[in-house]
Amino acid sequence: MDSMMQRCLVCNARLKSEICRRCHADYRLLFQCELAADFYRNQSIQACLQQDNLQALKWIELAINLSSSRAMLQFRQLLLKQETEHLVDLLSNQHYWQAKRRLFALQAFWIYSSKLECLNRFTDYLLIKYSGK
Ligand SMILES: [Zn+2]
Repeated sequence: MDSMMQRCLVCNARLKSEICRRCHADYRLLFQCELAADFYRNQSIQACLQQDNLQALKWIELAINLSSSRAMLQFRQLLLKQETEHLVDLLSNQHYWQAKRRLFALQAFWIYSSKLECLNRFTDYLLIKYSGK
């Protein structure tokens, strides 16, 4: 048992196995979720190291859905900040369609970054204004 949880959430007994000896609360599923979250977090870090931010975001989202920590939430924000900077670079170099495709791929993450949603609107504006030029 490698979990961070040291005490039973029900009776506060010290946990020495996946089932509490005092109240028989079963933590097997919870610990499996933590293991899966660790796996997804590690996959996310590997994707980030390979400079695949989009995949890193997808992996960290899975990890956060199973067991979030402050570090994982901050890591997601860092990845989103890097994406925002990349999009601004694309727009400043007039690669509007490339930016639009990237924004579309990031659509699931707009709820965590109002900047992405604003960039999407601005990209639409630029595409309309400069289409055909
Ligand atoms: Zn207990």
